[in-house]
Amino acid sequence: MARQCEEILADGERCRCIPLRDSARCINHDPRPEIQAIKAEAMSKGGKVLKRVRPNLPPVEIKTVQDAIGALNETINLLRKDKIPARTGSAIIAGVSQIFKGLEYAELNNRMERLEKAVLETRPISRRV
Ligand SMILES: [Zn+2]
Repeated sequence: MARQCEEILADGERCRCIPLRDSARCINHDPRPEIQAIKAEAMSKGGKVLKRVRPNLPPVEIKTVQDAIGALNETINLLRKDKIPARTGSAIIAGVSQIFKGLEYAELNNRMERLEKAVLETRPISRRV
């Protein structure tokens, strides 16, 4: 069974984190000053990294399947060049994919309506259902 931090939390449950290799507690609950210094430094670095990679992307308007393909290509290239965080790229791809599906659905619906109209116009009145 995996080791578990022995800290008891305010709700009476045990902390679910994995303890440090040489400790019975995780990095959040190990009271040693050197451990807390490492944690503070890591948190500080994490904050700086987040600020540095925050992307400033221009707004886009996706009205056609071609627009959606363009937005997906652009996002994939930004991810490949490491210009945007993976989470931002995933969120954009998920959103554009939904728009893409909506545009495809609208196009299919439009084609079906035109086909129905064409069929009704070519059938004799007496054979209509
Ligand atoms: Zn803990």
